[in-house]
Amino acid sequence: MRLSELGEFGLLRELERRGLAQGIANDAARFAPDLVVTQDALVEGVHFRLDWTSWHDLGYKAAAVNISDLAASGAEPEALIVSLGLPGETKASDVIKLYEGIAETGVPVLGGDTTSADRLYLSVTALGRAERVPGRDGARPGDSLVVTGPLGASAAGFHCLQERLTNPCARAHLRPPLRVAEGRELAQSAHAMLDISDGLASDALRIAERSGCRLLIELERVPVADGVAEVARQLDLNVDSLACAFGEDYELLAAVPEPGRFTVVGRCEEGEGVVFLRDGEPVELSGWDHFR
Ligand SMILES: [Mg+2]
Repeated sequence: MRLSELGEFGLLRELERRGLAQGIANDAARFAPDLVVTQDALVEGVHFRLDWTSWHDLGYKAAAVNISDLAASGAEPEALIVSLGLPGETKASDVIKLYEGIAETGVPVLGGDTTSADRLYLSVTALGRAERVPGRDGARPGDSLVVTGPLGASAAGFHCLQERLTNPCARAHLRPPLRVAEGRELAQSAHAMLDISDGLASDALRIAERSGCRLLIELERVPVADGVAEVARQLDLNVDSLACAFGEDYELLAAVPEPGRFTVVGRCEEGEGVVFLRDGEPVELSGWDHFR
């Protein structure tokens, strides 16, 4: 079977089934009691476009999405390893800007590799230390679902960049938040936690599936980022879909016994899947199949 038919998750499941990889559903791999590591690769034309993003922002985002996976594991980032594939005609000053963007995250680069490639390829590995890694399989009925910040700006920003619209959301798409402190705080008690990379709907489903419970999300409680409603109006898009079904928000979603200072968006109960509610009634979120 070809990868285009199998899909990324199909491939990972197959590797796990054959015993060739373990625990790959988690945000980061744990390889000692307190050490976690994660890696993400970005390919020009697939994950980013150099006419949309600056070299500085690209470096920042590549580091930030990895730091986000550490945050979702309750870890404090300690080091980055950076591998770059670049065409020979790339300007050295652009590569320096990329590293300046990485440096802006405050996590030191301790190594890596550089190789020649026909287009820009960037892989960042992030290493961190965690006292407690919540994982995704411990959510239980009665837990509150919380998020660490507003959603939808990255989705709206993506559409702004595509349509060449000026809106602060465009910046949000290029500059994900770093939620390390929030992650460490939530990790002390969270029964499950991850970062919202694929959209609240899809990421909530990962917790529901791994934990064996149903996640109810109340749409009126989902915090929507400033500017999203305006972009939705201008481009005839659905606000709920921007906030819940697109992704790349890189806020954290956690199932916790006590929400504390975090924004509650729903709860866990017996059952399966993810259900969106408005005024207590189930609603279909356009563009998303909750039992997919
Ligand atoms: Mg993640």
